[in-house]
Amino acid sequence: HRRERRAIDVAETAWSDPATPEGTLRVRELLMSIPGMGPTRVSRVMDELGIADAKRVGGLGARQREKLRAWLQAREGARTRSRLVVLAGPTAVGKGTVSAYIRENYPEVLLSVSATTRPPRPGEVDGRHYYFVDDETFDRMIEQGEFLEYATVHNASRYGTPRPPIEAALKTGRSVLLEIDLQGARAVKKAMPEALLVFLLPPTWEELVRRLTGRGTESPAEQARRLETAKVELAAQDEFDVKIVNHDVGRAAQEVVELLTVPGTPSARTRS
Ligand code: 5GP
Repeated sequence: HRRERRAIDVAETAWSDPATPEGTLRVRELLMSIPGMGPTRVSRVMDELGIADAKRVGGLGARQREKLRAWLQAREGARTRSRLVVLAGPTAVGKGTVSAYIRENYPEVLLSVSATTRPPRPGEVDGRHYYFVDDETFDRMIEQGEFLEYATVHNASRYGTPRPPIEAALKTGRSVLLEIDLQGARAVKKAMPEALLVFLLPPTWEELVRRLTGRGTESPAEQARRLETAKVELAAQDEFDVKIVNHDVGRAAQEVVELLTVPGTPSARTRS
């Protein structure tokens, strides 16, 4: 059910991990996959970009990547305008599951890795799921202006969104996805008004209650407290630009990914 992938997305996947099939794909084959590109044009473009004939996409150096990215963006048009998308929603709605799904299935999406003071859970990898830091390091990062936003979540640990990787990605035309809490989403909108805020909704209120109270191991008082929090959080949905209902993880993930690429008008596309 996925749309056909654009060459630029294939290239971004290759560059996020050169060991992927995308990474070992030859530049020539990538360019040949673009509608309207034949052998003669491909050779001319590779010549112009200074890329040797046998080069693989994952094997390109930084300058060649830059050149190829710029060329693909021009070719594939305004459709690749980069964008910052923030995914938020009430506790237990499943935004962590949706972002994990995107991490696994859409490697071309740059999913921002937050810093946190909470300890890693089993299976969590430093630098991939979070940067696990101590309080001192977190304080230092605040002082040095490293964060786009940061917050204390659930009255417990601190979480922050590192700014430099996001700015670098947007500069090179890559879209970025942040999965953060509500206060974080508000702070990002303030700092970057052009960010697109997405609110993930449960299919029904009953479903959210079921997920929140879960195994039923919490006391009635704790359950009541969680439901109260959920009501307050749901009330924030109108502050958001887009709402997505989480009926199914794969579908919700796809809807989020589609928001990351801004559709352009046909006339804005480069013809050749
Ligand atoms: P968890 O500890 O379960 O991974 O995440 C707890 C909560 O922290 C989730 O609601 C998640 O969205 C939020 N969170 C994760 N990273 C950040 C961040 O960088 N900033 C903010 N404000 N919230 C975050």
